[in-house]
Amino acid sequence: MNNKLTIALTILTVTSLFAFLPQNAHAQDAAETAPVVLEVPDGAKAGPDFDVDNATSAYINLLTEEQRERSNAYFEGGYWLQLWGFLYGIGVAWLLLGTRLSAKMRDLAERFGRWRWLHTFIYGAQYIVIGTLLSFPLTVYQGFFREHKYELATQTFGAWMGDQFKGLLVGLVLGGIVITLIYGVIRKAPKTWWVWGTGVAVAFLVFVQFIFPVYISPLFNDYKALEQGPLRDTIISMARANDIPSDDVYWFDASRQTTRISANVSGAFGTTRISLNDNLLNRTSPEEIESVMAHEMGHYILNHGAKLTMQIGLVLAFGFAFVAWGFNRALNRWGQNWGVRDVGDTAGLPLFAAVLSVFFFVMTPISNSIIRVAEAEADNYGINVSGQPDGFARVAMRLSEYRKISPGALERFIFYDHPSGHDRVHMAMLWKSEHQDSEPPGQ
Ligand SMILES: [Zn+2]
Repeated sequence: MNNKLTIALTILTVTSLFAFLPQNAHAQDAAETAPVVLEVPDGAKAGPDFDVDNATSAYINLLTEEQRERSNAYFEGGYWLQLWGFLYGIGVAWLLLGTRLSAKMRDLAERFGRWRWLHTFIYGAQYIVIGTLLSFPLTVYQGFFREHKYELATQTFGAWMGDQFKGLLVGLVLGGIVITLIYGVIRKAPKTWWVWGTGVAVAFLVFVQFIFPVYISPLFNDYKALEQGPLRDTIISMARANDIPSDDVYWFDASRQTTRISANVSGAFGTTRISLNDNLLNRTSPEEIESVMAHEMGHYILNHGAKLTMQIGLVLAFGFAFVAWGFNRALNRWGQNWGVRDVGDTAGLPLFAAVLSVFFFVMTPISNSIIRVAEAEADNYGINVSGQPDGFARVAMRLSEYRKISPGALERFIFYDHPSGHDRVHMAMLWKSEHQDSEPPGQ
């Protein structure tokens, strides 16, 4: 899409932003339609001839050649977007530093009052706004046009921009706070800041998780307790059986943004809750919903929130150590004219972020593997709780509409933060094979 057209579209739709607000009417209509019935493909039906590989193929073959090409294209395009996003970020940093815009932003911030933390916060706010604006072309392509091209998005441009704007405000507050905290630590402990900085960042991460379901998610979607009915009874019963308080189960109107089905566990300490989205609720069978909810309960019971926070915190410690090592080297080599004093100078934030992004880019396979292992654990926990291998396999097939179904081993290691569709169907069919005797006959 050419730039003039994009700009024209932006102006047109931003001016009509508020015309699109009452959006969720059709989401409620969908709940009125008849429930979806789970269909088990012929080759995957239980019986004396049941074979794990045949059953797996029977599910995999539900995806037409066209659908498979489409989901491969979408997902593989995502690999390239990670590379472009990384390079684009380096370019933005280079621009902010090389033009001395970053130094000017710092000088401007230092004109406000005498407190250094305030200077840092004001610099941080400018950095987030300008960074968001400079990254906007990539954001709008990736988050809006590409999602619509693959029919994954449901929002008008105006409504999408509204969400972007809210996201920016949240980012300003939270980003401003974390930048202020980290720079406070750097100035207090210029040599060992990366150790204390990791502690502060992890504590901040826990705080954000704690407030997220209560103060942030509701800015973008409506969260409601599940309505009375057989489905709610099943889910609540599963929750009770797994020691999860029943008032920790919610649903939300994701259909205002996306056609994707999903559910999640969010929160920390007293705010932890399991939420499923209305696409899952309205467009899939009860067996599928049960299998997804059981997976989410697995995350909850296995305490993945705390464990992942610690594991990612450890990766972050290495990342900060890398910045502590690389910042001055990069500054001495390229930064004579940037007007950046040292690592404790906020004008160096674009360099700080760029060096950290190099680390996380290289660490992509490690971060993805940490998450993928937890996801596989939740899969195993979930299938034991729900006892719905076919529901689980069906969901895996639905998710494969936008996640490449059969990646190579290296591809999976680098890019997958969940088990692939193929691996999930295979796991479910293996479970089914080992539990054949306890299945109701004729299924
Ligand atoms: Zn999960």
